[in-house]
Amino acid sequence: MPLSILINGSKGRMGHALADAAKKLGLTVGAAVDAGDDLAAGLPRCEVIVDFSSHQATRAVLELAVARNKPVVLGTTGHSAEEKKHLLALAASVPCVWAGNFSVGVNLLFALTRRAAGVLGSDYDAEVIEMHHRFKKDAPSGTAARLLEIILEERQLTAAALRHGREGIVGERTSTEVGIHALRGGDVVGDHTVMFAALGERIELTHKASDRGIFARGALRAAQWVVAQKPGVYDMQDVLGLK
Ligand code: NAD
Repeated sequence: MPLSILINGSKGRMGHALADAAKKLGLTVGAAVDAGDDLAAGLPRCEVIVDFSSHQATRAVLELAVARNKPVVLGTTGHSAEEKKHLLALAASVPCVWAGNFSVGVNLLFALTRRAAGVLGSDYDAEVIEMHHRFKKDAPSGTAARLLEIILEERQLTAAALRHGREGIVGERTSTEVGIHALRGGDVVGDHTVMFAALGERIELTHKASDRGIFARGALRAAQWVVAQKPGVYDMQDVLGLK
């Protein structure tokens, strides 16, 4: 029997990409749900919930998943750190893959960024630049947030080190800050650059997405994987065996 999925956010850009990818992979879309629909109605027909909707919907999605004991793939971004803490505790009661980016290339970028941040050290100024389409509502992107987390972890810094854009007389750059710049425009699916700049050389790691299909295929790979897992919160590095 092909895996049956519930798509939450089905009328959105990712919702459409998920339906296309599911068809190509031979998976069944048991329920397609969007704002205003009853999330619970189609759930008995589905083995896993795939959510790419709005951060405001995440609590309801997780509460229902826990109540009905259904695995979840969560792709929605835009949660505050506080919101995420509560949601993670809830998500841990069911098998859940939660990733700010489901592309294989970006997950390799995460691994390369960790390695580069470790090797290069604080003499190399770290800055993250992301660009997305004009319709994106949250900033910085979930992927940029994860890249920043990795750099902060490797450099043993806290979120207080982050500089969201710069304006005015901000003074010379310190070695303990990490810059983040969000560009918006046109139909850009998702570009991320991690830059390490020292006196005399600069390294840039860049990933450019040109088709949302990469996220959809990754999310469906996660859906097939998560149905066989024990309760707990996993990420795409777990799904791909990159840990
Ligand atoms: P979109 O605006 O095109 O679509 C979102 C859809 O969700 C809309 O149809 C909207 O009506 C629906 N929605 C809003 N509130 C809802 C609710 N309470 N219940 C059910 N549906 C609701 O956005 P998109 O580009 O498809 O992105 C959706 C989310 O996925 C965003 O948070 C985006 O950042 C994230 N995203 C994640 C990845 C990843 O790899 N993790 C990749 C792309 C996008």
